[in-house]
Amino acid sequence: MTSIYDQGLDPNAANHVALTPLSFLDRAAQVWPDKVAVIHGPYRTTYGELGRRCRRLASALDRRGIGGGDTVSVLAPNIPALLESHYGVPMVGAVLNAINARLDAATVGFILRHSGAKAFLVDRDCAEVARAALEGLEPRPLVIDIADPLGPASGGVGDLTYESFLAEGDPDVAWAWPEDEWQAIGLNYTSGTTGNPKGVVVHHRGAFLNAMGNAITFGLGPETVYLWTLPMFHCNGWCYTWAVTAVGGTHVCLRKVDPALIFPAIAEHRITHLCGAPIVLSMLIHAPETVKRRFEHTVEVATGGAAPPSAVIAAMSQMGFHVTHLYGLTEVYGPSTLCAWQADWDALDPEAQALKVARQGVNLLTMSGQDVIDPATMAPVPADGVTLGELVLRGNTVMKGYLKNGDASDEVFRGGWFHTGDLAVKHPDGYVEIKDRAKDIIISGGENISSLEVEEVLYRHPQVMEAAVVARPDAKWGESPCAFVTLKPGAAAADEAGIIGFCRERLAGFKQPRTVVFGPLPKTSTGKIQKFQLRGQARALGERRE
Ligand code: ADP
Repeated sequence: MTSIYDQGLDPNAANHVALTPLSFLDRAAQVWPDKVAVIHGPYRTTYGELGRRCRRLASALDRRGIGGGDTVSVLAPNIPALLESHYGVPMVGAVLNAINARLDAATVGFILRHSGAKAFLVDRDCAEVARAALEGLEPRPLVIDIADPLGPASGGVGDLTYESFLAEGDPDVAWAWPEDEWQAIGLNYTSGTTGNPKGVVVHHRGAFLNAMGNAITFGLGPETVYLWTLPMFHCNGWCYTWAVTAVGGTHVCLRKVDPALIFPAIAEHRITHLCGAPIVLSMLIHAPETVKRRFEHTVEVATGGAAPPSAVIAAMSQMGFHVTHLYGLTEVYGPSTLCAWQADWDALDPEAQALKVARQGVNLLTMSGQDVIDPATMAPVPADGVTLGELVLRGNTVMKGYLKNGDASDEVFRGGWFHTGDLAVKHPDGYVEIKDRAKDIIISGGENISSLEVEEVLYRHPQVMEAAVVARPDAKWGESPCAFVTLKPGAAAADEAGIIGFCRERLAGFKQPRTVVFGPLPKTSTGKIQKFQLRGQARALGERRE
C-alpha cells in the first residue's frame, strides 16, 4: 500500500545533494576570505587564497589528463601541499592516496603500483625513498617536487615543482561536485605489519560525516587553532583535514613531531586543539624541563590509535591539557568511538577519572552502532565488564572496502558488521573497553590475559616510560606474559624482580609478567609498538621454565 508520503515527494536537485567535505572549503572561502586558514612557520594563507590554490591544483591535474577515478599519491609530512591535496585532488574527481612518509621504498613502490598512481607529489625529505620506489615503475606517474620552504633547499625528485604545477592551473575553475556521494575520495593503506598493506577506500559521504562527527565531539569552532601533530597521512588526519576547515578554524602545519617545536607552537599560536597517538603524549610528558612551557589556557588533546594508559592521561591533565580518548581504525576513517564524559565523573579523584577515560567508550554520533559480540555465534556479550568478545561497528563511516581485494572485504563485513579484530568487554554503563588485538592476547594455563591490562599497571611504575607485554612460550603454562620496558630518561636502575614485585601487588598471580626485558621498543612508522617483533624476541628467549 502506498502512503500519501510516497507521491510527488521524490528527491530532486534542490533537496538532495551528494555530501562531500569539499563543500566546506567553498563555504569557508566565502564566509572568511581574509581569515588565516593555514600557518606554516612564517607563512600564512587565508581561506580565500586556500580556495584558489586548491582550484589551481584541480585544474592543473585536469589539464594533464588526470581526473575521475584516477589516483594521486602524496608522500609528505604535515605541510600545506598535503592539506591542499585533500581538496584539490578530489575536486577533479580523483582519489587522494596520502602515503605514510616514514615507509620504506619497497612498500611505497608497492602502493604506487597497486593504486596505479597517475601523479605522485613528493616532499624533498622523502625524495630518496620516492626515487627508489619509482625505479622500474611502468607507467611512471607524473612526479611533482614539493619544494617546501621549510624543507630541504635542494634534492627534489620530480618533473616540475609543486608551485610551477599550481601555476598551470586556473584559480577560478568550477570543480566537479561528485555526482554520487559514494564516490571514492581517499585510499589509505593499513600498516601491513604482516604482509602487504591493504588499500582502504573511503568515500565523500563518510568523509563529510566523520569530519562533522569529529568537529562536534572535539568542540571545534571558528576560534579553533589546530596543531598538526597527527600525521595527515594517517586516515586523512582522522578527517581533521576537513573538520577544521568546516568550522573555519586555523590549521597550523608541523613538519616534525618534536616537543621542542610543539610547546613553543602552543604558546605562540595559542593552539586550542591537537591530536596524537599516546606515544606523542608520552613525548610531551617526558620532554626535558627546559623545553616544556606552561600556558594559561587549556589545550584540548584527542588521543587514540593505541590504548592510552591512564597514567599518561593523568600526567597530561597535570600539564594543563584536557584529554579526549578516541578509538578507531583506518577502515572507519579514524575515530569511530569516544569515551564520552559523564557529569558524575567530575566528583572522582584524578586517578579514577583517568581510569574512566582510558576506556574506548561509545560510538561517535555519526557511527550508527557498535557492539561486542561472540565471534562464533555473533550474539552480543553481556554488559558485565568481564566477558570478552570482538568489537564490531556499523554505519556510514565504514569504508567502501579494500581496493582490489574482495575476499578481505567480505571477511571483515561478514554478518552485517565491520569486524575490527579488537577484543573488548562491555561495561554495565555500555562503554566498551579494548583488552587486546585478537592476535595479541596471551593465553596462560587456559586463561586469557589482556596485554593492555598488564601494561596499564607497568605504566604506573614510577621509573617506567614505555611498556609492552607479549606472550612468551612457557613450559608449564603454554604462554606467560613477557614485559618489554623502557625506563624514563635519568631514572634510577630498575631490575626484573622489582618490576615483577610492583605488578604482584596490583595484578592477579597468573597475569604478572614472568620475564622482564629492558631497552628501547621497536615502533611502526605510525608510532605503534611492534608487538610482532617483540613476540619474536620473546620466542628467541626460549621456552620459559620455572
Ligand atoms: P593498523 O591496523 O595498520 O595498525 P590503524 O591505525 O587502522 O592501523 O590501527 C587500528 C588499530 O589500532 C585498532 O584496530 C586498535 O587495535 C588500535 N587502536 C586504535 N585506537 C585505539 C584506542 N583508543 N585504544 C586501543 N587500541 C586502539
